[in-house]
Amino acid sequence: MRIGVLTSGGDAPGMNATIRAVVRAGIANGDTVFGIYDGYRGLIEGKIQEFTRKDVSEILNKGGTILGTARLPEFKYEQVRTLAIRQLQKNDIEALICIGGDGTYTGALRLHEMGIKTIGIPGTIDNDIASSDFTIGFSTALNTACDAIDKLRDTSSSHQRCSIIEVMGRHCGDLALYSGICCGAEYIITNDTGFNKDELLANLKANRLAGRRHAIVVISENITDVHQLAKEVEIYSGYECRATILGYIQRGGTPTPEDRLLAARLGKYAVDLLHEGITGVAVGVIKNELHYTPIDKALAMTNEPNVELHKLIEKIS
Ligand code: ADP
Repeated sequence: MRIGVLTSGGDAPGMNATIRAVVRAGIANGDTVFGIYDGYRGLIEGKIQEFTRKDVSEILNKGGTILGTARLPEFKYEQVRTLAIRQLQKNDIEALICIGGDGTYTGALRLHEMGIKTIGIPGTIDNDIASSDFTIGFSTALNTACDAIDKLRDTSSSHQRCSIIEVMGRHCGDLALYSGICCGAEYIITNDTGFNKDELLANLKANRLAGRRHAIVVISENITDVHQLAKEVEIYSGYECRATILGYIQRGGTPTPEDRLLAARLGKYAVDLLHEGITGVAVGVIKNELHYTPIDKALAMTNEPNVELHKLIEKIS
């Protein structure tokens, strides 16, 4: 087969490991694999290059994506997607593996509806693709967040401060939930836990009065203005308080072994499915087993809150 691979949307550590797996698995099958630069934008611009095994050596442990990524909101228009299809036809590319988040999946679905064989691989630090228990990049971002929170804990404890740490995740609370548990945060606030500011302030005040030296609050992005919250914590709780927005450092870095393994498994699986004639699907792991889900179903699925972990934080935070 002649297979194209692209990365799209926000970058995530492990995207390179995924590209490597797709290229190597494809070549091992006798396929010709093409790297498409800068996502769907590069596709319509014809930024397409055949990849050899060697083109993907030395990238396994690199963050970011060697293919680059770019946003092309106009891809929602059929005329724009027609340009993409023309480029694929020009290069005789019959199938496309798209690595990214739900926007990328939507693009892949629309192309599939227009007759292109597509497969989506979940590459995002947000862990917000419900058709896979974990997305490529989440483990690395979790490691980065934990490293930062541990460091902030040291200084918070020395100065008897409250530290509010905002982590990424778009609308998914997993990065906050997992990093909060792993770093022993006193409070974890996500869309799933809900945010009751008065209760938080009262609890922090009680903590302070009970003589606790520090408090760590881990909060998902898009919930509240954390700098404003820090001011209110200072006024109401008696703690000195600092807010830190971890931001884009969570998107970079060497992928963890977990992300590399997931990338290798899903990259090869995507190629295998193409050979079995299964397309228009998103691949993932569910209970550590490889699964595929039609992309339209994958996009309609919602991330259910992890009941076990929420019960856990009630007891040990
Ligand atoms: P992510 O894949 O990480 O969710 P985006 O939401 O930015 O990132 O989507 C990546 C790209 O996918 C967009 O720039 C666009 O080219 C394509 N895309 C997003 N939404 C659609 C859509 N409704 N129809 C077609 N293509 C889309």
